Amino acid sequence: MENDIKVFQETRAKIKAYGYFTWLMGWDQETEAPKGSVEYRTKQYQIMATEMYKVESDPLYLEAIERLHQHLDDITDPDFKTEIKNTYKGLRIIKLVPMNEYIDYQVLASQGSHIWAEAKEKDNFELFRPTLEKIVEFNRKLVKYLETDELKGYDILLDFYEEGFGIKEYDLFFNTLKTELVPFVMQITEGKPKSYNRKLSKQAFPVDKQREFSHYLMDVFSYDKNHGLLKESAHPFTSGVSSTDTRITTHYHADNFASSIFSTIHEMGHAIYEMQNDLKYDDTFLHGGTSLGIHESQSRMYENMIGRSKAFWDLHYPKLVKLFPRQLRNIEVDEFLAYINQAKRSLIRIEADELTYALHVMVRYELEKQLINGTLKVKDLPRQWNQLMKAYVGKRPRTDREGVLQDIHWSGGAIGYFPTYALGSAYAAQMYQAMDKEINVEKEIAENNIKAINLWLKEHVHKFAGSKTPKEILQICTKEEFNPMYYVDYLKRKFR
Ligand SMILES: [Zn+2]
Repeated sequence: MENDIKVFQETRAKIKAYGYFTWLMGWDQETEAPKGSVEYRTKQYQIMATEMYKVESDPLYLEAIERLHQHLDDITDPDFKTEIKNTYKGLRIIKLVPMNEYIDYQVLASQGSHIWAEAKEKDNFELFRPTLEKIVEFNRKLVKYLETDELKGYDILLDFYEEGFGIKEYDLFFNTLKTELVPFVMQITEGKPKSYNRKLSKQAFPVDKQREFSHYLMDVFSYDKNHGLLKESAHPFTSGVSSTDTRITTHYHADNFASSIFSTIHEMGHAIYEMQNDLKYDDTFLHGGTSLGIHESQSRMYENMIGRSKAFWDLHYPKLVKLFPRQLRNIEVDEFLAYINQAKRSLIRIEADELTYALHVMVRYELEKQLINGTLKVKDLPRQWNQLMKAYVGKRPRTDREGVLQDIHWSGGAIGYFPTYALGSAYAAQMYQAMDKEINVEKEIAENNIKAINLWLKEHVHKFAGSKTPKEILQICTKEEFNPMYYVDYLKRKFR
């Protein structure tokens, strides 16, 4: 066992080092690299990736993991135990799926996004249908290969992205939304959007002033500039490699100033989570977040629950007015608040507001479930999509581009991923309630003391990194099991 531990730790250090350089290449590519550098970089990247693969698939390393997993009960350090369990779980695919099928699928999934992009561009589902049929077919086979006594079918895919959350948990969650939230949304979103839309959306907001405000926000949220920075990219993202280096990007559009504000805050939520992971996890595979859902809970709490609150803007709106005196003349803070918190029936998930967002996700969850259990054929997907959109969001797409073809995820093989997006907002509402029992959250926001919120989240969520499962984090943080009613109540309170 001693020797296996040594092999594991040495290989892990190598993987982390290779990972660091490929991460840096990726970051550079998305933010700074000149366009013409792509070919040379790709050549170097391929060599790095090959070397990385050699390290990761070294038989000595794989055998060490296998033996350590067999003797899991003899490992006394709980964090190390979790690491071995996770690493072993990650290897199950390679062990149980026939190599040729797995490689064929990898190729299919990498081509899938190109085919999908063309189909979306041409608004023609038929172009994408054969590829999606193969992807669904493979996933139906995959769950057969990977099934255990506990997990079968769609549960296996769901568990990839959010450990411990399967059909049982998600059905409970989405059924609550269906009975509690859908009728409320239909009622609130009836009629035409309000007129302040035009006042705020038909003006130009200079990008350099937006940039200045984003940097102001970094200070407001105590985003640690010694261990992170803010750059620009086509799509905002967070990218980190250790608690000492976690970076974010945002984007600026002159005709949509709110977009940069909430992208910056959203990504800071992700970044503060990783920056506040306990230092001891930096050299392990446990650094980062524990799951997509918990990660999204942090970004959405910062963005929606803090960043779109009245307490926040009562304090910071004057700064915004100072930067945009002409554009915001005659617009009071309450009108601005109504603008950034408007709810409407929409077709595109990534543009959906806080109130309706989870319902867009619910459509995808139900369709995935039926595709994997075989009760829905891919050819019937567009029709079914449109029907569910009408039933849950109140609006029926007229084209597949604004319907079933809008998201990239399925084309890359990611089935089971979507539900974590909705789960994140629900976790956030439950966590916020728990936090509010111990500190007065609104008061801290109003007194420009978000540091206190960061600190509470560090102690109850962030510091654990990936050493606890999502369910364990929720238990530690809220002292309860997952309860979606916190989310429903929060939305009803806010949007009534
Ligand atoms: Zn996010």
